[in-house]
Amino acid sequence: MGSSGTPVIQVAVPSPLRRQFDYLPPQNKAAAALLAGMRVRVPFGRQQCIGIIVGKTAASELPRHRLRRIIEVIDTAPVFDNEHLEFLLWSAGYYHHPVGEVIMNSLPALLRQGKPADAAGVQHWSVTPAGAGFDAQTLTRSPRQRILLQLLQQHPGGLTAEEIDALDVFSRPALNALVEKELVQVRQRLHHEMINHTPAANIALTPEQGEAIETVSSSLHHYGCFLLNGVTGSGKTEIYMRVMHEVIQRQQQVLILLPEIGLTPQFIRRLEQGTGTPVAVYHSGLSDRERLNTWLLARDNRIQVILGTRSAIWIPLQAPGLFIVDEEHDASYKQQDGFRYSARDLALVRARNANCPVILGSATPSLESINNRSRRDFREIRLSQRVADASMPRLLVLDLKHSVMNGALCGTLHQHIRNTLDKRQQVLIFQNRRGYSPAYLCHECGWLATCERCDKLMTLHKHRRLLWCHHCDRQSRIPERCPGCRHDMLIEIGHGTERIEEDLKTACPDANVVRIDRDTTRRKGSMAEMNEDILSGKADILVGTQMLAKGHHFPGVTLVVIIDVDSSLYSTDFRATERMAQLITQVSGRAGRGKHEGTVIIQTHFPDHPLLRILLEEGYMAFTSRLLEERRESGLPPFRFMALLRAEANRLTDCESFLHEARTLLDNRNRQLDIAGPLPAPMERKAGRYRMQLMLLSTSRRTLNESLHALLPDLEGSKLARRVRWSIDVDPQDMM
Ligand code: ADP
Ligand code: ZN
Ligand code: ZN
Repeated sequence: MGSSGTPVIQVAVPSPLRRQFDYLPPQNKAAAALLAGMRVRVPFGRQQCIGIIVGKTAASELPRHRLRRIIEVIDTAPVFDNEHLEFLLWSAGYYHHPVGEVIMNSLPALLRQGKPADAAGVQHWSVTPAGAGFDAQTLTRSPRQRILLQLLQQHPGGLTAEEIDALDVFSRPALNALVEKELVQVRQRLHHEMINHTPAANIALTPEQGEAIETVSSSLHHYGCFLLNGVTGSGKTEIYMRVMHEVIQRQQQVLILLPEIGLTPQFIRRLEQGTGTPVAVYHSGLSDRERLNTWLLARDNRIQVILGTRSAIWIPLQAPGLFIVDEEHDASYKQQDGFRYSARDLALVRARNANCPVILGSATPSLESINNRSRRDFREIRLSQRVADASMPRLLVLDLKHSVMNGALCGTLHQHIRNTLDKRQQVLIFQNRRGYSPAYLCHECGWLATCERCDKLMTLHKHRRLLWCHHCDRQSRIPERCPGCRHDMLIEIGHGTERIEEDLKTACPDANVVRIDRDTTRRKGSMAEMNEDILSGKADILVGTQMLAKGHHFPGVTLVVIIDVDSSLYSTDFRATERMAQLITQVSGRAGRGKHEGTVIIQTHFPDHPLLRILLEEGYMAFTSRLLEERRESGLPPFRFMALLRAEANRLTDCESFLHEARTLLDNRNRQLDIAGPLPAPMERKAGRYRMQLMLLSTSRRTLNESLHALLPDLEGSKLARRVRWSIDVDPQDMM
């Protein structure tokens, strides 16, 4: 045992081990100067790494002469306070994830790398009033300057070097020349800046909105969770903004989380105008510098509104006053690899710690949140009306049995599309499958293009001329002849967005078809451009994946078509029907948000499926009551708590024996735990590795938690564990 004297410093380092490590203070520093939350450089194994001080202790389990010294203390003050550290430690415990990984991954990259915790401006170019009115065509001698000036004229809010570079036109000399001519100005900015400080004209609230704001505003001084359950277009964002305004007036901060796809420049602008306050953003599209700036400004309360995606839940806040999770049902709030946390669930934890309210907003709340309405600290606020007279769309089911198909669309549908286009209105076609066709087949011998590393079908991407495995990303050339029988009768089976786009271009040659999926929005700024085309009416038909289903407001769309719901009606994942209903409801919410009534058409071979009928005839909430009944009967979440122990290895038997060992350990401890498995994962092989899992269910959160906690040291010491990669997923969202 380490003797008394200098205290031992406990450090969290990014290691897969679920513990902290003990060190002695560096030679030249007193232990008293070392505080929890400071970054340190320490020897680790044969290397060095950066970690964070999490505490001090008088005695270490190691004898003092075996303790190594901290090499360097990076910070003069902690990078976050003790309350935030408590939250990080709690999260590591709840998800049973290695504490060093949790803490280090919560930091922006520059802090992880040991860079100073100082905010520094990012250069930002914009047109001057003279530049805005200048005819760029006259810059004939300098094409670069001309292009840059035109670009900045199109973006009056200005652009950073990163943003200009993403469009492949960055040139510092040309920008300097434009600054010289006083056509362009350059400034250092710390965060997104408001273009227009005059708040939008106050719109008159609907009675429902007024009541909702009243309800939340009267409980700003203590914890409570408000489920803002409002149909699409019911004005939820307006409610957020009014409540935010009150919190801002009280000198407090608001953290608002959005799904990745919802964080558009339009939304940022809308928030800034609606609240009259600058907004700092935090998402994966920013540079490391911008992310660090937002993190630091938020930590020091130098900015009051922080808008981000999932990872923004890790930003420390000096004066938290409100948390908002928009589209709370969205699956992207759960991280699906590494540290599998739920930002939505953690927002509740943070709000409780800060003793302030949290709002979960959705038109299609998750079954978890709907079930939580019975809790004392939960309160549901319903908004049943769309604002501004917009009515709910008409729903039509097209029975595909015996109908004549024209590509992915049945014949009748083409008539509906024609009629809509004739009225100069827009059509949105939804298919949650990118690429040209999900299968590629030899007509002669039945050979199918499959991924040899995943045993799954490869998707044909015709435009990019490749077969692509959407599970492991493997790509290969499209064979000209069948590798099995050498015939050249290879045919495409099924319809992805790329093929539907092609079909529509042929069927409606005079219509402008825009496809929106991960392939067409890869380039930075492309989504914004397409958005413009849609809003300005330049686009007639929009074809896309679920990227189209979320958050957008396209007033010109009056017809929405859902190509395929059948696969989710009969999926093995117990959440598939919930997701389907959310998707149908969300996509339908895109229709008729403007002046004209909307129509939603769903193609299916199962028009009489009971769940589909309830959804279409009685609506989402009736549907969820029915689904909750089913979940209760089968003992699934939210009625029992679930965790998965996953294992992955080159050999299936290694997964199996490891999970068997885990199961025996759990069984021996004789807890009231329901264990299933080892079972093959739904995706049994991925990227060449085998995958299995153990499913743990319990009616008691505590039992589940304690069982896992007790199991971990054994697993970490297990010989079998060395041959597998294993992880724990608490509250799993997908079973893959
Ligand atoms: P949701 O988030 O519930 O889908 P939004 O907040 O985006 O709805 O509102 C939809 C549209 O209605 C927006 O263009 C918004 O500006 C407008 N809107 C919101 N509240 C009102 C209101 N009280 N009166 C008129 N228009 C409103
Ligand atoms: Zn063949
Ligand atoms: Zn694959």
